[in-house]
Amino acid sequence: MMLNNCIRIEREHDIAIVVIDNPPINAGSLEVRSGLLAAIEEVKFDVAVNGIVIIGAGNTFVAGSDLREFGQPLADPQLPAVIAAIESCEKPVVAALHGAALGGGYELALGCDARIALAGTVVGLPEVTLGIIPGAGGTQRLARLAGIPKAISLVCSGERVSSEEALSLGLIDKVAATSLRKEAISLAREMRGRKARVRDMPVPVCDESSITKAAESALRAGKCRPAVHAAINCISLAKTLPIDLALVDERSAFQSLRTSREARALRHQFFAQRDAAKHPALETAMPRPIKNVAVIGAGTMGAGIAIAALDAGFDVAVLERDDVALSRGIDRIRNHYRSRVDAGKLHAAEAAARDARLRGSLDWSTVAVADLVIEAVFEDLQIKQDVFRLLDEVARQGAILASNTSYSDLDAIAAVTSRPQDVVGLHFFSPAHVMRLLEIVHGAATSPEVIATSLQFARRLHKQPVVSANAFGFIGNRIYAAYRRQCEFMLEEGASPQQVDAALESFGFAMGPFTVGDLSGLDIAWRMRQSLAATRDPMARYVCIPDLLCEAGRLGRKSGAGYYLYEQEGGARRPDLLVEKIINSARAAKGIVPRQIGDDEITKRALLAMTNEAALLLQEGVAHRASDIDVAMVNGYGFPKWEGGPVFWASERAVDQLEEEFDWLAELSGPGFVRGDAQQLFPSNREV
Ligand code: NAD
Repeated sequence: MMLNNCIRIEREHDIAIVVIDNPPINAGSLEVRSGLLAAIEEVKFDVAVNGIVIIGAGNTFVAGSDLREFGQPLADPQLPAVIAAIESCEKPVVAALHGAALGGGYELALGCDARIALAGTVVGLPEVTLGIIPGAGGTQRLARLAGIPKAISLVCSGERVSSEEALSLGLIDKVAATSLRKEAISLAREMRGRKARVRDMPVPVCDESSITKAAESALRAGKCRPAVHAAINCISLAKTLPIDLALVDERSAFQSLRTSREARALRHQFFAQRDAAKHPALETAMPRPIKNVAVIGAGTMGAGIAIAALDAGFDVAVLERDDVALSRGIDRIRNHYRSRVDAGKLHAAEAAARDARLRGSLDWSTVAVADLVIEAVFEDLQIKQDVFRLLDEVARQGAILASNTSYSDLDAIAAVTSRPQDVVGLHFFSPAHVMRLLEIVHGAATSPEVIATSLQFARRLHKQPVVSANAFGFIGNRIYAAYRRQCEFMLEEGASPQQVDAALESFGFAMGPFTVGDLSGLDIAWRMRQSLAATRDPMARYVCIPDLLCEAGRLGRKSGAGYYLYEQEGGARRPDLLVEKIINSARAAKGIVPRQIGDDEITKRALLAMTNEAALLLQEGVAHRASDIDVAMVNGYGFPKWEGGPVFWASERAVDQLEEEFDWLAELSGPGFVRGDAQQLFPSNREV
């Protein structure tokens, strides 16, 4: 019996099976909620029905709520009303879970009398990662099943729990051995005449110190964001308040967080990430199959890329220029797996399986079997071109030839091959096996098939792709360079490195730009500036402070000093009088009288520099979507996720205001600054 487009009731003798069918993820939309309510109404007084099973059609149970509804007033019936109907129905209701039961989906399951899951299912309440909290009883019911400390850690981390662990924690009651549907029906039948509502269960006794400990560690990991605070407060209510009162508090906290700026920013980032993985190439071209990957160069990046590919199940060959470099690279990879095994994060057998898929070689004919070759040698166009000439000779026809270059011209690399259509940029971030961002750079000739394959490869690596056209610095490094340059302007004008870093860290960046510079090494950018010196506009404003630091041997953390002093390896950064002197001498040489620069000005100029560059990237067609820029900056450059990204930040301002601010920034930045068109940042159909 169809109740609406998403819900139908099927019968198995005395059991009613309510099927949720809302592809692709059975999201808990308004139609799903009203259909579920109608289904309970339909069967609750039916004397022929002894029990109810709620199950998802397709690949999953309800994998989450429909986030598009969250930006507006929620339409009735809302989820708490559906759960109240299930709880007040006298017949037992069994939730049959497969795929994922997340967010509102798992809250629905918590509202049932029992939960059975197919092996491999994941359950969890990830709302906090979207700046909200579970708002349909999740905080109260989970506290009753798992205890308050565990509920705090699960809700605040948004962790997805496997069916095996969920069973051991009491989050589900049973793992189905063979057929989920059949076993759920048997369970409903066994429960005939009996309710087992989670709301009636006692909250497991625990001492106050374990709650405090769980709360402290959740706040630390969750960077004290408002949703983490609210989740801890609500879960803690389970200890003192009757459930109905606690549910009122939970709902009201959920409602106010749902419309907060932070939640809107996080929803924007969620949709932006989803969009960034889409590209017209996926509609027109068939991705090529990839099984064998060859990585050329096993330095910092090559080793990380090899690990990422091994983790994703590929066969990986690593090529180096000599024995010493090869064994150093292979050791790097093996040490990584050894330390993961030692830390209990990987089974020794799994590490051995990955090692069996790894091959080190100095023989270029090894590349002949590769479906994808990723070059990660020194950042030098000529060296890269030499490598690609060789690859063109040894790689099989149809193999994809990728470069991990950060700055080289991809077209100039592709031009030395006889197959520029197969050449693409795969720009990983360091450490490559950890960082989520993967910029996919297409040259003038890169074929749609190669872009589609690269997007699929990113998905298999669990990376977040962003597609960029070929241009100096692509998307991420171009924006970051504009941001860093603006911060250097402020140093020259009167701010100190520690003041700039502190202001931007308090805005939410993981690290300020000068701390980042010290960490990655100031010599990389120094070399880059030297290589560009001949082509630089001599009239453009140029801050020589970083050059002076490098000339003084201050290359960053690795040399014990950069913008800061590091008294011991891995130790804390300390402001250094010598840096102050270097900055003062640079100011004096230009006749600049330093002025006080407030934290607000620092943050505003740094963000405006990013958004101005974002507008230029859109004007030039380097970035295809404004939101791709936000995805790149959040996933690769430490931009605070809860601020949505630089374009989201800008889109919260009126366009006229932004135009004025771009003028102000241009004036402060001086000669050489290229002003963007703020209109570029306001696409009419932004989904937030
Ligand atoms: P690295 O110096 O750590 O490693 C380069 C490796 O390439 C060395 O092991 C070297 O022996 C090897 N190599 C050099 N020439 C070779 C050749 N002809 N054949 C085979 N192997 C050769 O450098 P890295 O930091 O890993 O950077 C590699 C590439 O990745 C560069 O293009 C760089 O710009 C880019 N990149 C670096 C980072 C980063 O943070 N380090 C981030 C993104 C991209």
